[in-house]
Amino acid sequence: MSLPWLRENWLQLVSEHGSGKLSHAHCVPWQPDLGAEAFIREWLKLLLCTQPQRKACGVCKSCLLHKAGNHPDYYEVGSIDGKGISVDQIRELTGKLQQTPNQAGVKVVWLRDAERMSVTAANALLKTLEEPTQATYFVVSPERTSRLLPTLRSRMQLHRFNVPSEQQVEQWLAQQLKRVLSAKEHELCKRYHQRPLALLGWLQSDNAPVDQLQQLSAALLGDATWPAVDKASCQGWLSATEQLLGELVRVQQNLGSDHLQLAGEQLRLQRWLTEKNYKVTDLNHWLKSCYGMRRKLAEQSGLNGPLLLQEIWMRLH
Ligand SMILES: [Zn+2]
Repeated sequence: MSLPWLRENWLQLVSEHGSGKLSHAHCVPWQPDLGAEAFIREWLKLLLCTQPQRKACGVCKSCLLHKAGNHPDYYEVGSIDGKGISVDQIRELTGKLQQTPNQAGVKVVWLRDAERMSVTAANALLKTLEEPTQATYFVVSPERTSRLLPTLRSRMQLHRFNVPSEQQVEQWLAQQLKRVLSAKEHELCKRYHQRPLALLGWLQSDNAPVDQLQQLSAALLGDATWPAVDKASCQGWLSATEQLLGELVRVQQNLGSDHLQLAGEQLRLQRWLTEKNYKVTDLNHWLKSCYGMRRKLAEQSGLNGPLLLQEIWMRLH
């Protein structure tokens, strides 16, 4: 595993797999900026390999079939064209899983976008997990684990990724870029160390991120107007709003500036919270509104996302 902050998760899996103790169903949060995709893909390879060591061998017949995209016992199910995952998709999968594996090994399923399963689809999956076919592994990746049915969650081993420290990310980036980081890049690491892959992308393309969090904080404090949001940028602004609310919770709890992304504005944000008389419960309430909005956007097309987001901002303001 080339991403150091995921190494612990990886070693645990390898050890459980090696000793034959690996559960048959796993839930891995879809956190692309932390490397969830690379992690899951390595893991799928490991599961399908017929002679794995600490990772897939890459040369056995099973590895080669998977590499070529032709493995008959590998199944990937996910949202198509942004639509929800239907019960028919799950039933089709379950039907195929009833057959014996073609490669005399295991069957492996990757269920992507798992938060987009309809309730009937989730229940159909639950039934499959309760009565699993032999030698079948499920890797289920929702954007947020909390958005799956509790009954479904309880049937799976839940995985959590560690967020790397600033120092860990600095070291990793310097290795990837094969050079020393500049002062400005160190500053970016301080702010975005919880999103190492996004950081690497920015540094490689020499494209500093549009600092949406900073922009929202400026609007909140009256230094700038609230940004214009359209359909394409709505998700990004929603994430930034969640980050801002999380940051306000940390400010309200008087955490040290080391824990803050907006450390420079700590005093003003504190004053703002006092003036408005906002408590942590209020902030958590708005955070819940954001999560609710994210769910609605995923489930219903034709919603006016920008308008919903502006409503949350206006209530906060
Ligand atoms: Zn192999």
